[in-house]
Amino acid sequence: MDGAEREPVRAELGAIGQALAILGDRWVLLILQRAFLLRIRTFAGWRDALGISESVLAARLRELVDHGIFELSAYRNGRTRYEYRLTERGLRLWALLVAIQAWERDWVSRGRFPPLLHELCGQDARPRLGCGVCLEPMSARDTRTEPGPQAAFSRVGPPRRHRRTVRSGTPADLIGYCPASMEILGDQWSTSVLAGAFLGTHRFVDFQSGLGIAPSVLTDRLRRFVELGVFDPRPDGSYRLTDRGLAFFEVFALLVDWAQRELSASEGSALSITHLRCGAAFRPVLLCRACGRPLERREVRFLLPG
Ligand SMILES: [Zn+2]
Ligand SMILES: [Zn+2]
Repeated sequence: MDGAEREPVRAELGAIGQALAILGDRWVLLILQRAFLLRIRTFAGWRDALGISESVLAARLRELVDHGIFELSAYRNGRTRYEYRLTERGLRLWALLVAIQAWERDWVSRGRFPPLLHELCGQDARPRLGCGVCLEPMSARDTRTEPGPQAAFSRVGPPRRHRRTVRSGTPADLIGYCPASMEILGDQWSTSVLAGAFLGTHRFVDFQSGLGIAPSVLTDRLRRFVELGVFDPRPDGSYRLTDRGLAFFEVFALLVDWAQRELSASEGSALSITHLRCGAAFRPVLLCRACGRPLERREVRFLLPG
């Protein structure tokens, strides 16, 4: 099985569920990373950069075009060729991708990632999460997260997903391969479990009933989160987020924000997050750790080795 076929994204999942269904896949994340970091735009470009099978790549690109993240554009180079350009919706994923890199750098690989130059101040931005309203740096602890009117997002899990295998790339591959993030995000159930934890779920039975997840799948995900140092198992049988897990809120918040802006249907939002300090509905931004200003896509660039 090459894992080319995925479950279709169903509208009844709600915005966050749809975002997880679209982005909760390692290949999709890797394709997007390469598009942002290396400006890869062609089928052959991703195939050669990722060592991905052509059928899987074709299926993923088709999905990303269907979901309005890439658009196919023809150009002439002797004969007509096609390239995949990020749409506005796709471009707005940049902060999420940067947050994934930042979390990996701060919590997993400790400086293995290339610096992100903030052109406004000329320094390494070392992005961190901030509130888009009061522009203060913040963490998960400074927020209150509540299920909104459309709270069924937690049932995002599809009946079955193919297990994907990813070749880990070359060991020297400094760009893009984020094993821990991929473990968390590259699978819809994992992300749902993490979302449940951010909403205050701690006990096995509550995860199970809240997410509608099979006990065997839940056991597996909890075990992996403990191995990843994201959950801390307590003697009373509950699971608490570790500091590393709490820090992943940065990624989670940007995912939720993108989903609710780009994919929201008429049903209202599934999660309401409040910044406790200023009291505003939370709008996540990434702040430059050097100058404190919010990072804009056009004002940052990765300094890639070589
Ligand atoms: Zn604020
Ligand atoms: Zn700066």
